[in-house]
Amino acid sequence: MDCIFCKIIEGAIPSSKIYETDNVLVFRDIQPAAPVHALIIPKKHIASMNDAKDGDFALLGEVLAAAQHTAQELGVADSGYRLINNCGADGGQVVFHIHFHLLGGEKLGPLNA
Ligand code: IMP
Repeated sequence: MDCIFCKIIEGAIPSSKIYETDNVLVFRDIQPAAPVHALIIPKKHIASMNDAKDGDFALLGEVLAAAQHTAQELGVADSGYRLINNCGADGGQVVFHIHFHLLGGEKLGPLNA
């Protein structure tokens, strides 16, 4: 499967890893949109939120737990951060391996700015 995030999981493409469990990987976004910008992904290939099946939601809970852990690890838990999932064309999704962006390290603007 030609998925860039699957290749990162396999180690075929290098990444700046922040945190890893059996089922989840966290690494730095290559084009950060904020001082802290991590991507949290399940190791299982799920293309998008639209493709998550009933049996995937426990795994996506692990993804959220990893996001919480990462916010602590990167020192933005107390100041606050934003967790974003882009889904599909109108959502701005570019990489079709489900992921959550964790953004922080500065005061983020309103969503409707
Ligand atoms: P999307 O628009 O929600 O699909 O976000 C995809 C994100 O993946 C973008 O913020 C990219 O900068 C990021 N990205 C793409 N390729 C790589 C990579 O090889 N390493 C780390 N981040 C990447």
